[in-house]
Amino acid sequence: MEDTREAAGWRAAGRVHGMGTSIFTEMTELARSTGALNLGQGVPELASPPELLQDVADAVLAGHNQYPPAVGFPALREAVAAHQLRRYGLTYDPVGEVLVTTGATEALAAAVLAFCDPGDEIIAFDPCYDAYAADARLAGARLVAVPLTLDGDTFALDADALRAALSPRTRVLLLNTPHNPTGKVFTPAELAEIADICREHALTVITDEVYEHLVYQDGARHLTIAALPGMRERTVVVSSAGKTFNTTGWKVGWVCGPAPLVSAVGAAKQFLTYASGTPYQEALARALGSVEKWAEELRGTLRDHRDLLSAGLERAGLRPFRADAGYFVQADVRPSGYADGVEFCRELPALAGVVAIPTSAFYVSEGAPRWLVRFSFCKRRDVLEEAVERLMVLATRAEGGAGSAGSAGSVDAAGPVGAAGSKG
Ligand SMILES: *Cc1c(COP(=O)(O)O)cnc(C)c1O
Repeated sequence: MEDTREAAGWRAAGRVHGMGTSIFTEMTELARSTGALNLGQGVPELASPPELLQDVADAVLAGHNQYPPAVGFPALREAVAAHQLRRYGLTYDPVGEVLVTTGATEALAAAVLAFCDPGDEIIAFDPCYDAYAADARLAGARLVAVPLTLDGDTFALDADALRAALSPRTRVLLLNTPHNPTGKVFTPAELAEIADICREHALTVITDEVYEHLVYQDGARHLTIAALPGMRERTVVVSSAGKTFNTTGWKVGWVCGPAPLVSAVGAAKQFLTYASGTPYQEALARALGSVEKWAEELRGTLRDHRDLLSAGLERAGLRPFRADAGYFVQADVRPSGYADGVEFCRELPALAGVVAIPTSAFYVSEGAPRWLVRFSFCKRRDVLEEAVERLMVLATRAEGGAGSAGSAGSVDAAGPVGAAGSKG
């Protein structure tokens, strides 16, 4: 896709220029060619509920392999509606207000295509999931990314920056909580502030909540902005089975929202994939009904993995950020003598046999902190144990830096040069 040279009169359309290769491709290839442990991509290596797997196998063998309804199987739409009511007190009609999609990925693309005309602007928070900028481009819209500010070892909303980013062309606010890549859970106060702005400026909200069940920190419960006053009517909630059940290859997601919005998303969606995943949809309808029990177990595992990785990164002399949710820990790599995360990630496979992703790859706006690197902990425990062992080689490079920058909360997070003292 990347090669756009004309061949036999062929050339790629402008909307896909630059979408083909990315730092993810490069790092995954590096992991493959060097045999390094891949903590780059967020592909889970954890188990799924056995009953769920059995139900899929049964459905396939029973011959349930043809097109499902374009809006999704009734049982799954009912299970999604029941889930939203049970967890968030939100009522959605399974007929017309819930739409099953081919993963959250399609839900996001269809929503952006449904809500944005060319020239419209979408606001998201930086760093952000890579699909957002791509979806905006496919729609001919512009993604305006408002950086989250670094606050100690966490990320925070800058409401003034959000207000400053609004323009008469702003149509959509694309929120992601719990947040990838930072592991941030937007606080009730932050959500209230965002909701105020969305109501004031009549923005439509797309909220990506695929990590809704993966919040580890006590007191940092997931809340959906759709549940705030005056927000349900302007919000589509996007979620997916992939991260909740460790079934990212199944690509079953869903959208909940008021009928006119969901109907517009459905209009775009039916000509992207029409429908998919018959046996998965059937099985997931059942699994979603008792997701809480499963999710509690999964959270326990992931919390343990996060703690293992964070402690390992710290022992290796890096400065891990707090990750309250999701799959990833960010770390400041400057104590190991690197000022640039891209350089760090390119050298890490040879140096330590580990692959990570520079967080700057997730920034759309200028001014990304160059020194942040993302490590994934949705891996097998033995893989993480081996990885943190290997990363200890960095500790020897960090001498002089690790002591000062490693102490909790000591780094001035005001900007990219805040803690540069540790770079030798
Ligand atoms: C994984 C992920 C998605 C994609 O979900 P699928 O259901 O696999 O399409 C969307 N948003 C975020 C933030 C993700 O991390």
